[in-house]
Amino acid sequence: MENVNTAATVINPNSESADNRKCPSCGATLKFDPATGGLSCEFCGRSVDIHQQIQPPGVGYSLEDLNTHAGAHYLQQAKIVCCATCGGKFILTAQSIAANCPYCGSNSLNETDDVTGMLEPTGVLPFKISKDEATKIFENWIAKQRFSPADLLTKARAAGFVGVYVPYWVFDANTYSAYSGKFGYTYGSGDDEYTKWETRSGVFKLDVKGETIIASQRLAGDSMWNSVSEFNMNLMRKYDPDLLAGFVAERYSIDGPAAWLTAKDRIRGKIKIGIINRESADRVGEIKFEPEYSNVRAKYCLAPVWVTSFKYNDQVYQVLVNGQSGEVRGRSPKSMRFLLRILMIIGIVMGGLLTMRMIMYFIAWIMQMR
Ligand SMILES: [Zn+2]
Ligand SMILES: [Zn+2]
Repeated sequence: MENVNTAATVINPNSESADNRKCPSCGATLKFDPATGGLSCEFCGRSVDIHQQIQPPGVGYSLEDLNTHAGAHYLQQAKIVCCATCGGKFILTAQSIAANCPYCGSNSLNETDDVTGMLEPTGVLPFKISKDEATKIFENWIAKQRFSPADLLTKARAAGFVGVYVPYWVFDANTYSAYSGKFGYTYGSGDDEYTKWETRSGVFKLDVKGETIIASQRLAGDSMWNSVSEFNMNLMRKYDPDLLAGFVAERYSIDGPAAWLTAKDRIRGKIKIGIINRESADRVGEIKFEPEYSNVRAKYCLAPVWVTSFKYNDQVYQVLVNGQSGEVRGRSPKSMRFLLRILMIIGIVMGGLLTMRMIMYFIAWIMQMR
């Protein structure tokens, strides 16, 4: 077990291939540059074109590939590092970096060797938003935080941005569903309105494209992460380790077959809505259908998010910027003075209502006395 504990540390599991990712001018490690879509050197500014390698992601994995791993591509020349503090697991290639854990900030990332059996990503959504742009987005966001303490703007400084590739499964499938159900149609109006129920059956076909499931167990349950993770999956490119240069990539913790179960649930919901629309019923009773799926394809995709945090009164607040769209989400401190004011207003309104009620009771009581 090797401890990686400085931000500048770069582990190269395969130093041979890493050498061609060194700056031709000064020998520093190259990073992917969202502005040019190529690699560039932070130290001397030299850029290296990787455009000739840009390709569409291909068809992805079949269900059989996911279940048996037959014909699957495995992640090559990579290692997995695990955060000792929060348990986050990240892919380490010759090109990617391992510095601090992007989720909890801990610097104890330990190498593990469970890369065996890890599927290779099908595609990557490259970063479109640069670190400088992400920083500006953060500053605008924090300036707009309402109800925040007055000194937030001067005190809150982003603690540096880490670019993270978050794992997703993206499913395509053709579906065929024979259905039968009870559908209600309303006739007449007013008092004469009545519903006539009809039993109807038919066949409904739906081709699903790009049903997207987050492949990180930790992030799946986090509302902030979910709200920042709207990606245009049509811009996916074929997986290329060069696109990971300078970023951290999380390993999938929800595997393909598990993600497919979730995807099927969602697709079922869409099929049901499709059937209801097709029968254009006013009311719907029980609908029975069991979809058959064919041509199922799963793409394992890495999607870009800038992660930062800031400290305010010793509390750490995380902020996320979507690396493709620039959408920003974050948590921020709320001002105590503001909260007290809100409570006071609520108090006055409630007090007022209570007083009015008491006066009304009193009047009613007087009236009864007479
Ligand atoms: Zn250089
Ligand atoms: Zn961590």
